Amino acid sequence: MNLSASEACFETLSPRFQALFAPHIHVERLWTGARWCEGPAWFAAGRYLVWSDIPNNRMMRWDETDGSVSVFRSPSNNANGNTVDRQGRLITCEQGTRRVTRTEHDGSISVLAERFEGRRLNSPNDVVVHSDGSIWFTDPTYGILTDYEGDKAEPELAGCHVYRLSNSGDLTQVTDDFVKPNGLAFSPSEDALYISDSGATHDPEGPAHIRRFEVQADGTLRGGEIIAECQTGIFDGFRLDQEGRIWTSAFDGVHCYEPNGDLIGKIRIPEIVGNLTFGGPKRNRLFICGTTSLYSVYVFTRGVAIG
Ligand code: MG
Repeated sequence: MNLSASEACFETLSPRFQALFAPHIHVERLWTGARWCEGPAWFAAGRYLVWSDIPNNRMMRWDETDGSVSVFRSPSNNANGNTVDRQGRLITCEQGTRRVTRTEHDGSISVLAERFEGRRLNSPNDVVVHSDGSIWFTDPTYGILTDYEGDKAEPELAGCHVYRLSNSGDLTQVTDDFVKPNGLAFSPSEDALYISDSGATHDPEGPAHIRRFEVQADGTLRGGEIIAECQTGIFDGFRLDQEGRIWTSAFDGVHCYEPNGDLIGKIRIPEIVGNLTFGGPKRNRLFICGTTSLYSVYVFTRGVAIG
């Protein structure tokens, strides 16, 4: 269903944003019926999108060939963020079981990470894969703060950090100054990693921004300057396009930033947006997880290869 102009609209702050859309392009609501949509991941080989409905403890699947939606996995252990690795396998952050898993080609599920230095992770939230095979994920406490999106529990770890799982299975902590690390995505050349901090969800004075880190050859991060401050709510999940623009979730829709941090426009969505990803055969279709619904819109750019 197409959204009317009053429900969804493009807020242009720069002609450079306007150049990314045709005048007649519109936002579509592809499906509704979730409690909290998150973690969209595009499966190119199967031409479908998988995403999470966290409080309903299930993952959904939208089929590009006929527009149908079905349950992909239930229970999902309150799965949140998802991505697809270079081999086409699903990588999932499970809040309920407080772990990161991989769904293998035969359908079996392997646990990739569930403890750091002997202590249980808080509740992995979002995940990306580097072309060297390493898996990077954020670990805020959202899944253990209440029983709504997981199981209420006391954290075992001292803080909320970002972790890197190497090809050989070594788990290392790569940040130490986040309140609630949330979405993350690499730049097109993978020389930078962007990470959002959504600490403002539980502290009005807390962070609501995206930071940029340089990725070092040894897998560590350097820098971490703030490149975008959220004007409406918090930044949750986000993705980059091939030109390095950041397309990020916010409370009033999708905000688009240029690599230098200039906000050039917004796609207004009538629900809080939790995450998004690029998909479709040309990766030029933005799939947007609003609170209860899945939306999409075509753009004149392509998402980076992985995400
Ligand atoms: Mg998130």
